[in-house]
Amino acid sequence: MATVNQLSSKEAIALEDKHGAHNYHPLPVVLSRGEGVYVWDAEGKKYYDFLSAYSAVNQGHCHPRIVNAMTEQAKRLTLTSRAFYNDTLGPYEKYATEYFGFDKLLPMNTGAEAVETAIKIARKWAYEKKGIDENEAQIVVCENNFHGRTTTIISFSNDENARKNFGPYTAGFIKIEYDNLQALEETLKSNKNIAGFLVEPIQGEAGVYTPSDDYMRKAQSLCNEHNVLFIADEIQTGIARTGALLAVCGKCSCEGHCEKQADTYAQPDILILGKALSGGAYPVSAVLANNDIMNVIKPGQHGSTFGGNPVAGAVATEALEVVRDENLAQNARHLGNLFREKMQEFVDSSNIATLVRGRGLLNAVVINDTEDSSTAWDICMALRDNGLLAKPTHGNIIRFAPPLVMTEEELLDCVSIIIKTLKQFEK
Ligand SMILES: *Cc1c(COP(=O)(O)O)cnc(C)c1O
Repeated sequence: MATVNQLSSKEAIALEDKHGAHNYHPLPVVLSRGEGVYVWDAEGKKYYDFLSAYSAVNQGHCHPRIVNAMTEQAKRLTLTSRAFYNDTLGPYEKYATEYFGFDKLLPMNTGAEAVETAIKIARKWAYEKKGIDENEAQIVVCENNFHGRTTTIISFSNDENARKNFGPYTAGFIKIEYDNLQALEETLKSNKNIAGFLVEPIQGEAGVYTPSDDYMRKAQSLCNEHNVLFIADEIQTGIARTGALLAVCGKCSCEGHCEKQADTYAQPDILILGKALSGGAYPVSAVLANNDIMNVIKPGQHGSTFGGNPVAGAVATEALEVVRDENLAQNARHLGNLFREKMQEFVDSSNIATLVRGRGLLNAVVINDTEDSSTAWDICMALRDNGLLAKPTHGNIIRFAPPLVMTEEELLDCVSIIIKTLKQFEK
């Protein structure tokens, strides 16, 4: 297929630089087409995508079934607002709630909006069901969390870059160490005003920090014990990325088949989804919970003009069906094990990479250099030149998260590109 884009990469970058706010620092590559695990730049050069738009494109770029569902629905009806009913929202809500094992779904658009929604639901539940005094509810969060960019969410971030000069901050959050059950237990025991515990099953933005195998389950039982809502932010880890439908499955015996055995894993009280819920085709996010929690929200108390629009419903339903039909959780589990095995062999004999970690196809390689050096960035530039796109996360860490539709042959090709590139930086 010929490139239809008239702009050169250089021109496209110059336009963004001049007319766009500088709120990102992109790797200098201008993409104009994508298909499956591949993307092409404005000059037609082909790359493996190893970021997947921060795990939004789990189903691969421009998945034909998802694109078809989107365009067919777009021709029929795009937006009604929730002032009226539409005929795709109900079927989508039925499908998604059965898929994840909850009574109800509240539809939003972006991840941050879904996190905000979960916080509002948890607070309202705390006042109306748990009996906490008005304005006293606290939500426990973890250090080095990433939950989005709104004023409230950055209030409980400890990333100075995300926070500084955006105050005053929203009150009502207690920060504890991640993967520390004792800290959680002490906090829950010593404070009667806790509404919920908001946590990422793996801290993606922080550098793919994978907690102990039993962290999620034990955290859940501590929350149950203290009548505190266990709120899982699976925006990045969910929808097959980590080799199971949800990362709260951890390494339980269901072997990535949790979608068929929803009762066997650590089910959160509130589940937050986004990103791959649409396969990257459209902004779709959602909060799922059972009736005793979700029913605290009454008409007029929360909403969004675009939330639950017909295109979103059609796209998200198809995107979830693709995950199931193409066994993406199983594929992510298999390829992830292979990736870490191959990379571990390299790390063992390398002085540029110190460790590989992750679960399923959400992985990171830690680079042997000081936190403030640009080595990880320089490696990503060299990877780009070698036909593979990845991005550094906090510190000198590179995240490797390709679309889950990759084949074993493609993965092995990518491993050799990554190792070849890292070897150029060997000290
Ligand atoms: C990306 C992300 C968000 C925010 O999603 P947006 O769609 O960018 O608002 C929240 N939580 C986690 C864990 C994420 O990875």
